[in-house]
Amino acid sequence: MYSAPLNDLRFCMETVVDETQIKGCPALADYDAALRDSVLDEAARFAEQVLEPLYRGGDTEGAQWTAQGVRMPSGYRAAYAQFVEAGWGSLRGRPEHGGQGMPALLSTAVEEMWASSNLAFKLCPMLTQGAAEAIEHAGTDAQRRLFVPRMVRGEWSGTMNLTEPQAGSDLGLIRTRAVPDGDRYRIFGQKIFITYGEHDLTENIIHLVLARIEGAPTGTRGISMFVVPKFLVNDDGSLGPRNDVQCLSIEHKLGIHASPTCVMSYGQAGGAIGYLVGEANRGLESMFVMMNAARLSVGVEGYAVAERAFQQALAWARGRQQGRSPSGPGTAAIVEHPDVRRMLLAMRSQIEAMRALALYAAGQLDIARHHSEPDVRAAAQSRVDLLIPVVKAHCTETGIELASLGIQVHGGMGYVEETGAAQALRDVRICTIYEGTTGIQAADLVGRKISRDRGAALTGWIRDMRAEIAALSGADPTVAEIGGAVRAAIELLDATVVQLVRELIAIPANLMSVSVPFLRLCGVVAGGWLLARQANVAIARLAAGGDRAFLAGKLQSARFYARQVLPQVKSYATIVQQGATSVAEADPALL
Ligand SMILES: Cc1cc2nc3c(=O)[nH]c(=O)nc-3n(C[C@H](O)[C@H](O)[C@H](O)COP(=O)(O)OP(=O)(O)OC[C@H]3O[C@@H](n4cnc5c(N)ncnc54)[C@H](O)[C@@H]3O)c2cc1C
Repeated sequence: MYSAPLNDLRFCMETVVDETQIKGCPALADYDAALRDSVLDEAARFAEQVLEPLYRGGDTEGAQWTAQGVRMPSGYRAAYAQFVEAGWGSLRGRPEHGGQGMPALLSTAVEEMWASSNLAFKLCPMLTQGAAEAIEHAGTDAQRRLFVPRMVRGEWSGTMNLTEPQAGSDLGLIRTRAVPDGDRYRIFGQKIFITYGEHDLTENIIHLVLARIEGAPTGTRGISMFVVPKFLVNDDGSLGPRNDVQCLSIEHKLGIHASPTCVMSYGQAGGAIGYLVGEANRGLESMFVMMNAARLSVGVEGYAVAERAFQQALAWARGRQQGRSPSGPGTAAIVEHPDVRRMLLAMRSQIEAMRALALYAAGQLDIARHHSEPDVRAAAQSRVDLLIPVVKAHCTETGIELASLGIQVHGGMGYVEETGAAQALRDVRICTIYEGTTGIQAADLVGRKISRDRGAALTGWIRDMRAEIAALSGADPTVAEIGGAVRAAIELLDATVVQLVRELIAIPANLMSVSVPFLRLCGVVAGGWLLARQANVAIARLAAGGDRAFLAGKLQSARFYARQVLPQVKSYATIVQQGATSVAEADPALL
């Protein structure tokens, strides 16, 4: 039933990025509206016709562990082969390694469709790209040649092996050992929760493993990164013998049942052969290189799943008859009841706000990577660094809230599995946990990003938003109404930042006690800012005879957001301004 929101994806891509900045990126010279539209249209077809039909079956059948390896649910092997054949795996890969070099702006929009139609499937290519980028960035020429092109094409998949039973958020506690063995290493240890650690979609799996070389310092400064293939790879690229790596079991979990979450054992039979990637003891730095892209991608998952929940809730609300019609005789479709409309507007408007925010961040990522002017690149990188934790945590937390609202719209039928509304909530629940929990994102935002420059990047962002919104006022009354609400929200954010930098930063426990409310405050304001911008464009396009249903719907969303979502800013600001010591001074023993 999922239908790709192509209108809004295109509209977002046109409104969130300054085209002249993209034109300033020589590597993106081939990118234009025609290319964008053809890629989006093809991706929509693939998502709707290939991935969507596997969504429910993947949940009920799930990935299965067997002694011979993990078996994916019916249809997944064929779909993956089609995915690779159609070149989807290589969309954002670098051309020198067989990739298509598409901008993050476009690949992020495409990833939304994969995540909406089948989140469990999407994780395999996402991790493969991340692992390929890490090898590309930190590996030797030989490692790049042997592994990257086949990963970029999706012929081999990749994994990220960070987590161990005692080392989750705190990777400094990693115990997996690497013992030098000539020009390579023998790896010993156990990793848990490894997504697609084992499966039957590809003939080889390239594991990136964080481990500690014997004698390395304790903590995060003693961690190195290794590439550990499931099958060793000969110099000519052919497959060698099986490496000493096993999937011991897969987890039984709340959602994403088609994605195998594996317990991986390295070195039960003499040591898994691993090759050091990058410098010894600097593995975390190499891993962090792809962190912005990976965190952006998981942030997208939050609203992508909410999008499918919204579409399903809307269809249900249009069909389900309950109560008397407010507008005439007879029973009403529940969409006519104002409270049901409120829930649907809450879903649609926040999804649109999050989509705009994530695509804005993706556009900044492109500019940071590719712009010809160093100053422009640096400014975009600073914006990306600031906003990525916001995208990751805010979009996933909100995604969960909206998937839950989707169930509420269905009433009791949402709570039973039959309608599928529950699956969206079960699936999206992981997104605030993996790739750094919400708490870790918020700590990154206030502890590193803001404390490091004492709020300079944040203040710069506020200044830009303020200038843009000021220029909107006085225009159309709807835009003026939305702009006024956004302006007030920006001022509250600004006042909160002043206090944060002046007082809270000095006492880390106080700062961390309100880090998540502060991050949510940033997320809500960012969404309002971009929706106000979009409302302004929508008015102009309406006047020019643009698509009325879409543009009027956009204005309706933006107006709802201004009136029923943006007021959250007041409570978040109050919590940040007054709530710190109620946590910092609380005694854990009294909980
Ligand atoms: C389905 C699934 C797939 C996964 N895929 C992968 C994968 O492919 N590769 C991989 O390596 N890992 C993977 N993980 C692991 C995932 O990244 C971790 O679960 C996550 O990093 C959190 O670690 P933890 O579970 O040990 O929780 P903990 O670190 O124990 O955290 C528990 C709670 O304490 C909070 N907390 C911990 N430390 C701090 C702190 N310093 N400040 C504030 N709050 C803190 C957390 O926010 C959280 O709320 C996956 C997990 C799941 C469930």
